[in-house]
Amino acid sequence: MDSGEMKALIIRGKQDAIIDTVAIPKVKPNEVLIEVKACGICKTDIEIFRGTVDLAKYPVIPGHEFSGIVVDVGRDVTSVSKGDRVTVDPNIPCGKCYYCRTARKHFCENWNAIGVTLNGAYAQYVKAPEHVVYNIPNNMPFDAACLTEPVACVLHGLHRISPSSGSHIAIFGAGPIGLMFLQLLKEVASRIIVFEINPYRSKVAEKLGADYAINPLETNVEDEVSKLTNGRGVDIAIDATGNVKAIETAMKILAPTGKLLLFGVAHKDAVINIRPFEVYRKELTIMGSFTNPYTMNEAIGLLMKGVVNYKELITHRVQLEDALSILAKGLPKEGIKVIITKFA
Ligand SMILES: [Zn+2]
Ligand SMILES: [Zn+2]
Repeated sequence: MDSGEMKALIIRGKQDAIIDTVAIPKVKPNEVLIEVKACGICKTDIEIFRGTVDLAKYPVIPGHEFSGIVVDVGRDVTSVSKGDRVTVDPNIPCGKCYYCRTARKHFCENWNAIGVTLNGAYAQYVKAPEHVVYNIPNNMPFDAACLTEPVACVLHGLHRISPSSGSHIAIFGAGPIGLMFLQLLKEVASRIIVFEINPYRSKVAEKLGADYAINPLETNVEDEVSKLTNGRGVDIAIDATGNVKAIETAMKILAPTGKLLLFGVAHKDAVINIRPFEVYRKELTIMGSFTNPYTMNEAIGLLMKGVVNYKELITHRVQLEDALSILAKGLPKEGIKVIITKFA
């Protein structure tokens, strides 16, 4: 490997990934080159490997949740310099289209994303345009900083539902996302009920402040929620699974004026059953949450404050080679967040 080369994991197509030596990206005038220090393994990366992400472009180096050190900047870059510690919003809006000009950059008509349509951070180096690069505080560990993007996505979801204090909240799924919602909501909620089928993850949910962590396969969810809420139901239900059964159940346990947030990625052809009468009679709201517009700085702040405690979420630190088998076999059952910390 000569000095202009780096190691990277490349997804060449459906179910086809290798680790290879490739050229280190060259920066354009507006771009920044980052030496990757930590990169989260996201379910999306696994889905890109499985070929279920329509937006993905092959071949691609995955990895959209990362942090590192700036090692080169293009000649027009002014807001970051060599040696800066940074994280990146992987979504790259064009700034020119209708949605970019109407405060909805996450629906950019010329959207690209690092690790999805452009090469990402399952590599020693990754490049990004300056306007999506965020400086992080000197005392923020790279491990914490690589969680900025998922936390930012969760924050966008929270802004969508704008929970009022004292709410009764149900969270379906205690993976990294469900547990981030839990950590961010536990001060504002009067009660949080987590539904999770994996016993390891249920335990973590309890440790992180869930009032109840219930296995939905072992109980009648509607009866249980009714018991715990004096028959009223929950004010907010958050789906962090994308599972049809979970979403239908979440609809049924909402109290009057309840809100359902669809955060987990359902299969694009999946269909749920809704009784419109219920929506009418209880004034229910169903809403989605897509990516992380305008929430990166807020996420950095909340990770720094420990409101989202990265130490409780990161259970595995692996090297690039291990990522290959995780893409093929899935994430470890007894774990929450897996991050890559060794790339060379
Ligand atoms: Zn992700
Ligand atoms: Zn745009």
